[in-house]
Amino acid sequence: METILNVKNVSKMYQGAGETLTVLNDVNFSVEAGSTLSIVGPSGSGKTTLLGLCAGLDRSSKGSVELNNIKLDQLSEDERAQVRNRYVGFIFQNFQLLPTLTALENVMVPLELRGEKNIRARSISLLDKVGLRNRMHHYPAQLSGGEQQRVSLARAFSNSPRILFADEPTGNLDVETSDKVIKLLFDLNQEAGTTLIIVTHNLELASQTKRIIKIKGGHLVADELN
Ligand code: ADP
Repeated sequence: METILNVKNVSKMYQGAGETLTVLNDVNFSVEAGSTLSIVGPSGSGKTTLLGLCAGLDRSSKGSVELNNIKLDQLSEDERAQVRNRYVGFIFQNFQLLPTLTALENVMVPLELRGEKNIRARSISLLDKVGLRNRMHHYPAQLSGGEQQRVSLARAFSNSPRILFADEPTGNLDVETSDKVIKLLFDLNQEAGTTLIIVTHNLELASQTKRIIKIKGGHLVADELN
């Protein structure tokens, strides 16, 4: 089996008002390509920080994170951005769409950054896949939360990521809309073999992933198969 993510002895500290805050403490786990994993735990336990380190958004203070056999800790910020653009999709609780761009333009951005061809047609087909073809010229403010999250899914899918990180993807959605978003995530895993790593408080969602790890006070305290 191929390992897509390897987190070894990872710690993260922040310097604040004269003291060092240890947010993650010697965390270890690895993830098989194509699998699905939830990260659960209380608020403030370090889940978002861990996700950011795994996705190359930030760098660990100690230890190493290897994504797709690339050691992220040794890379510059620009190099990490390239790795993200190539292999990683990311979905946020608050969607993080660009407010001045339409749904279609938001989805086109990652493809433009990669200098790809047929950008418009491919983006339209991605919006079609998430059921939003008829909303493609709308701006984020003109879309419901569920629609915005589906646009952000289309954007995250657009570079055909090997691994998709989602931080509370259903946190701002009602149950029915959550179910639609969850189905799209698992369809991607099934159809394209995209590895899913999801931080969530939604137990219904966590129960659908193959494995759950629990973070408490910056420590990995449980690692279980569903
Ligand atoms: P969770 O996702 O589990 O709610 P986070 O990873 O967001 O937890 O945060 C873990 C802890 O790290 C919190 O106490 C938070 O205040 C702190 N923290 C997060 N980011 C920073 C930062 N940039 N500077 C200082 N402290 C931070």
